[in-house]
Amino acid sequence: MQTIFHVTVWGEFRHEKKNPKVAEIYPRGMHETIAGFLREAGGMIVSTAVLDEPEHGLTAEVLEKTDVLVWWGHMAHGDVADEVVARVKKRVLEGMGLVVLHSGHYAKIFKALLGTTCSLKWRESTDKERLWNVFPSHPIAEGVGDYFEIPAEEMYGEPFGIPTPDELIFISWFTGGEVFRSGATWTRGHGRIFYFRPGHETYPTYHQKEVQQVIINGVRWARARVNIPDTCPNSPALEPLPEDPEASARPTIGHT
Ligand code: ZN
Repeated sequence: MQTIFHVTVWGEFRHEKKNPKVAEIYPRGMHETIAGFLREAGGMIVSTAVLDEPEHGLTAEVLEKTDVLVWWGHMAHGDVADEVVARVKKRVLEGMGLVVLHSGHYAKIFKALLGTTCSLKWRESTDKERLWNVFPSHPIAEGVGDYFEIPAEEMYGEPFGIPTPDELIFISWFTGGEVFRSGATWTRGHGRIFYFRPGHETYPTYHQKEVQQVIINGVRWARARVNIPDTCPNSPALEPLPEDPEASARPTIGHT
């Protein structure tokens, strides 16, 4: 039996306040819609945090008890404090899972963990998106058929400036002809990262069942299994070593 785990859904929560069209689709914010279907899925305790809270709602205490952090940001990536990004990165390296959605491809935390540009082609138009399931045995693809479609979405196209994924789960095709690696995983340190493309704010994408199922699966897959702080310890030998005449002159703290 799996133990209950803790999820924090982080939302930028700016479009919803500025654009009535977005507010109509997500009256309580995209983060609350995402948190809502995760709660319904069960097996997890779900909290939310937003950019305009002190420390963006991501204090050391919050992150310490978070097993998976879900991230949606877009227009205010630059407003996320570097100190908070460093704190999140440290937790991922220790084992916390991270699920990055849609325009989070340009979030400071995603770029910091992947180390590449994370840039892509994009178009806000009348495209339909067809997501092909190219890894049907992966837990993140559970319950998803060969493919599913989102009637209207923003287009993201290749080349996507990411390191080659550890696992590629979905490839999207758009009406305009482009393709995109829209579901991909990496491991950084002890933490699992899942990127999932859909979720432009002016479309009701996070109300669609298939999209919800993938995010639920992704959160379950990314759940922290360990919590291993980075200590870089000086290490005594386990077995007797040959006599070392200079041993007392060597430092025992830190490394050279
Ligand atoms: Zn978008």
